[in-house]
Formats: sequence, structure tokens, C-alpha cells
Amino acid sequence: MAALDGLPPLRDVIQRHGLDARKALGQNFLLDLNLTQKIARTAGPLEGVTVFEVGPGPGGLTRAILALGAKKVIAVERDARCLPALAEVADHYPGRLEVIEGDALKTDFEALAPEGPVRIIANLPYNVGTQLLVNWLLPKQWPPFWESLTLMFQKEVGQRIVAREDDNHYGRLGVLCGWRTSAHMAFDVPPQAFTPPPKVTSSVVHLTPNPQPLPCDVEKLERVTQAAFGQRRKMLRQSVKSLGGEALLAKAGIDPQRRAETLSVEEFVTLANCL
Ligand code: SAM
Repeated sequence: MAALDGLPPLRDVIQRHGLDARKALGQNFLLDLNLTQKIARTAGPLEGVTVFEVGPGPGGLTRAILALGAKKVIAVERDARCLPALAEVADHYPGRLEVIEGDALKTDFEALAPEGPVRIIANLPYNVGTQLLVNWLLPKQWPPFWESLTLMFQKEVGQRIVAREDDNHYGRLGVLCGWRTSAHMAFDVPPQAFTPPPKVTSSVVHLTPNPQPLPCDVEKLERVTQAAFGQRRKMLRQSVKSLGGEALLAKAGIDPQRRAETLSVEEFVTLANCL
């Protein structure tokens, strides 16, 4: 497909800069510009929006975000080998791409956020994706500095993000996401869409902050979900024993014979608030 932006095809960019994919960095590149545009479009109209991207790699998704009109992209990339390729993209879009070489897990995105709307769009390295998501969901200040997250995960992680009660994928991540956000699966991406192909199907998930999540101390919520899902097949009176067991459940008005996966997000919040 001809590039929207007149820049060279990504396959050439990868070859010219010697960007052979490194497994340890979770490098599975997207070379199909139709697909990178589809991901960027999932974040909605980008005019006037600053986008944070994690792991731009050779720049396929970055280019789509810029071509779709984002005011600016601030991208954090750990692999210094990608910087010359990204510098070419930055030259093509003067003043609109800032690349920070570093580890996204150690980056204070909130401190980098400029005035105006901020969205996060990324084809995440699988080994750090869940931790990054959790970091973006934990700030005490809510609504957060971002207005949406459009993120690629392994499908199984995506299913855990959107899962609610009575779903096999429901667990700690589903409760946290359900409490603070509205999350939905946008679409699946087959392994062959990536170079090199990963072993599993991926999914793009879109999350927007709930403007007023039920009041709850996030640490307490983590404690109850950790205990309850730590022994998910057991009845709650057993799994939350160390937190108060039957007395805690009685205070929260929850039947002690139920199991963790039957509790709604709201019931977990009630339980946490009774701690
Ligand atoms: N965005 C590109 C694309 O869609 O083709 C590359 C995506 S690839 C799945 C993940 C990218 O994240 C790689 O470029 C990798 O070097 C980078 N990366 C891995 N760990 C990182 C970390 N801790 N912080 C920032 N970038 C990281």
C-alpha cells in the first residue's frame, strides 16, 4: 500500500536501519499502514490532541497517528536503534514528534502531559503492557491526565480487561478497569499481521475514564481482589479470611458462600470500603 505520508515503506526503514526484532523487547512490528490507521482511528478524531505512544519502534503507528492529524506525539522508546528511523519521521512532521529514549515503566507521563487533551495509543510490548495499564489506572487524582487509552494486548489480557462478573476471564484487572473506566474490545489482530508474528492473537482495547467512579481507596480494593481471586474457586468466607472473613462479608451484606467471580465491581468496592 502506498504510504499516506510519502515516507518510505516500513519494510525499507527496518532494513536500512538494521532493526531486526528483539524478543526481549517485545518487538513485533506492524507494517500494514491500513492496520496502524485503524488502531489510530479507534482513538477518535485526533486533531488538537497530544498523543503519548509507548514503543514506537520503526514508527508505523506513530506515522498513522501523525497522518491522522494529532497535534503532537510524545513517544517513549527503549531501543536506541530505533531513534534514527524515528528522527526521519520527526523531520517529516516538524515540531510534532518528540521521542524520549527510555523505559516507559519509569516514565512519569503525567509530568510530561501538556495543557489540552491527551490520549494514549500504543502497540505495547507484551512483557510490560499490563503493568503500564495498571500504572495509568492507579493515580489518586481522578479523572486522570488522559482522556482515553487505545492499547494493543495479547487477546487473553484484553479479555481480562473487559471481563465482568460470571466471566472466566474476570479477575483483579477486570475489577480495577471496571471501577475506574469503561473498557471495550475494539477488534482482534491475527499473529500474521505482525513482523515477526507472535504466537497468539492480539486485541485492541479502548478505555475511557469513568468521570465519577464509586469512592474507594485503591489499596483496599487491591487487597480484597488479591485475597478473593487468589483463591477464586473457594467460597469468600475462606478466601477473605485474613481480611475479616464472615464478619467483613456480613458488614458488606455479601453472602459468604459466594465465590469471587460472582461479585460485581460495585460489590468489590463495598467490600473494600468495609475493611
Ligand atoms: N509501535 C511499533 C509497531 O506497532 O510496529 C512497535 C511495537 S512493539 C510491539 C513494542 C515496542 O516497545 C518496541 O519498539 C520495543 O523496543 C519497545 N519497548 C519495549 N519495552 C519498552 C519499555 N519498557 N519502554 C519503552 N519502550 C519499550
